[in-house]
Amino acid sequence: MRYSRTFIPTVKEIPADAEVASHQLMIRAGLCRKVASGTYTYLPLGWRSLLKIIEIVREEMNRAGAQEIIVPSMQPLELWDRTGRSVDYGPTMFRFEDRHGRMNALGPTAEEVFTTMIAGEVKSYKQLPINLYQITPKFRDEFRPRFGAIRSREFIMKDAYSFDVDAEGLDKSYQAMYDAYCRIFKRCGLEYVIVEAESGEMGGSGSHQFTVPCESGEDTIVYAEDGSYAANLERAAVDPLPKEEADAAIPPAEEVHTPNVGTIEAVCGFLGSRPNDMIKTLIYSAGERTIAALVRGDHELNTEKLTQIIGGEHIDLAAELTIEEVTGAKVGFAGPMGIADKVSKMIIDHAVAAMAVGITGANKTDYHIKNVVPGRDFPLEGENVIVADIRFAGEGDTHNGKKLLFKKGIEVGQVFKLGTKYSAKLGAKFLDEQGHENPCIMGCYGIGVNRIFASAIELGNDSNGIIWPISIAPCEVIVTSVNQDDEQVARTAEDIYKQLLGNGIEVLLDDRVLRGGVKFKDADLLGIPIRVNVGQKSLADGNVEVKLRCESESSKINIRDATAKVVELVNKLKEQLKV
Ligand code: ATP
Ligand code: MG
Repeated sequence: MRYSRTFIPTVKEIPADAEVASHQLMIRAGLCRKVASGTYTYLPLGWRSLLKIIEIVREEMNRAGAQEIIVPSMQPLELWDRTGRSVDYGPTMFRFEDRHGRMNALGPTAEEVFTTMIAGEVKSYKQLPINLYQITPKFRDEFRPRFGAIRSREFIMKDAYSFDVDAEGLDKSYQAMYDAYCRIFKRCGLEYVIVEAESGEMGGSGSHQFTVPCESGEDTIVYAEDGSYAANLERAAVDPLPKEEADAAIPPAEEVHTPNVGTIEAVCGFLGSRPNDMIKTLIYSAGERTIAALVRGDHELNTEKLTQIIGGEHIDLAAELTIEEVTGAKVGFAGPMGIADKVSKMIIDHAVAAMAVGITGANKTDYHIKNVVPGRDFPLEGENVIVADIRFAGEGDTHNGKKLLFKKGIEVGQVFKLGTKYSAKLGAKFLDEQGHENPCIMGCYGIGVNRIFASAIELGNDSNGIIWPISIAPCEVIVTSVNQDDEQVARTAEDIYKQLLGNGIEVLLDDRVLRGGVKFKDADLLGIPIRVNVGQKSLADGNVEVKLRCESESSKINIRDATAKVVELVNKLKEQLKV
């Protein structure tokens, strides 16, 4: 590739809306351009990188025995209705009506389409296991698209779906994908950690997330200080807190007038209490059921954990009207006393059960109750009362006695054991050896191609620009002709360029008639791993300069040895990313 003939619109200015390094650099290095909120055009160098990532993903998926297909992004909404996910996905799913009045979805993922296809084709255990995948654009109307390629509304995802006859088969398929993911991220030059994850909208019984540790990540990794446990924040289980002992006998519960103070902060301000003296009572709806969930005032309820405890049903904060019906009070004054009988379930966080005494809403508008003793004033056991872990882990929490630490990260991939959630609903069944009909046991496996791209830039950059891992760099080598108007320089650069091409190296020849300084700046911005400088000065001694983007020093190499030396360097860098 000749720079002079390649469309690489680099820019000096940092785009105003770009908060993180990868977003800034993908625009500045001329890799991408924004079209609208959360949608990007990938220009020649950006697309080359994406294609390389796609190829690595494809090779490892094929190596693991998965087969590539392609299904439509435009999917009948009716399929999503059948699994209930048209509701679960909510406004995140793009929907539109076609000219015949039929509703369609733009696929945010594709469990429904893959499973329906298998339902129509697979009849016997002899046809299983099957693992199919595609690498296609996915669409999500994210509430807050941001960080460039990290959270966009259209992005390329590799999604794979495995169909097995039993749990053992699923374990094998899952492990094969897990291993393939490790190889993929290693080959892409990413540092990553694997954490236990919640299966969320996917349903199912087990999941791992592959996360790139990095400050700008939106995910939080929670890990035990001795490395014995790692999970994402939605999943991270915490030990129950020790039961607090009261200093003296607690007087009876007592109503206090708290006019117009409905939030924890407002109540604390009003009563001079601390958030950890408070008990928050939140009312949720799960289909027809109403759930009361109790957490300490300084803790945050984890709806993923709550969902798991009630059996996986989708939950939403209850409507104002429902809350008023259940509590008999305006929103902000719900409390646990006398409420257990009015809800389907009362779920109490461990930390609340451990409190000696607390302040709660009074189920009466403008009133709270103090001196509330868990177990005395509201039940900690009973038919519909559960004490469980339903909050997010926080500073000071432990898991199996080990202190928990927190780190930010970007989720680049996730694997799920789905079980029969989709196959049962969509009729993906097979006849076993005994002639009995069973639903396929499924797994699904996603990788965000654009997030790999962005994460690599997040991990590899300095004040001058990108530092690509060689495996996914747009080119392996850039040959900079420092003085393109000097015939000898231009010719030497051209010779080295051609020799490198002849050796199968991907080279960009900077043949523009520009000042050397400008070219060096662009080369650093683009982040191509190896640079060869051909300039008048070193040429006079028969040398060229070779420099790694990740190092500050360059070395002088005799022109005759230049190509061989660069080929050797390329191979060395590639070797480090081999699996
Ligand atoms: P997140 O929690 O970050 O919204 P997710 O868990 O909903 O992501 P999955 O459904 O597991 O995402 O999708 C598989 C992969 O697709 C993710 O691991 C991620 O790499 C990628 N991905 C998901 N949403 C986006 C997005 N909005 N922009 C870019 N990549 C995405
Ligand atoms: Mg995920």
